[in-house]
Amino acid sequence: MKRPTPTDPKRSALMARVRQHGTAAELAVAAALRAAGHAYRLNVRSLPGSPDFANRTRKWAVFVHGCFWHRHPGCKRTTTPKANAAFWQNKFETNQKRDTAAVRALRRAGFRVVIVWECETVDADALAARLHRSLNRVA
Ligand SMILES: [Zn+2]
Repeated sequence: MKRPTPTDPKRSALMARVRQHGTAAELAVAAALRAAGHAYRLNVRSLPGSPDFANRTRKWAVFVHGCFWHRHPGCKRTTTPKANAAFWQNKFETNQKRDTAAVRALRRAGFRVVIVWECETVDADALAARLHRSLNRVA
């Protein structure tokens, strides 16, 4: 399910570039969306940031973010490797800038954007409630 926290920057850069799909977190979100009757497309490359789940007609997009890579604030999974600190700092900043730009572009295009953190997908009921709150206001 979750990617191991890498210690080798070259390897981690490679892992970050190749975004993994079909992680346990994504499968949990897919199941919750289906259960709530939301139609979606996966990995929508034609939208900013290639959202993990999106519905263009209903104008919503869901990103499932790994806590470590995308820096979930205050999360215990958001660790920072001690070795190669500058490399990591740079990497995390790049990820966060990309995330922010994608959310902004989608919102400008009228999309409701939901960020689901990996750690929020463990509790299926809480996840369903979260998605319900976020998406059911969408017409
Ligand atoms: Zn988290």
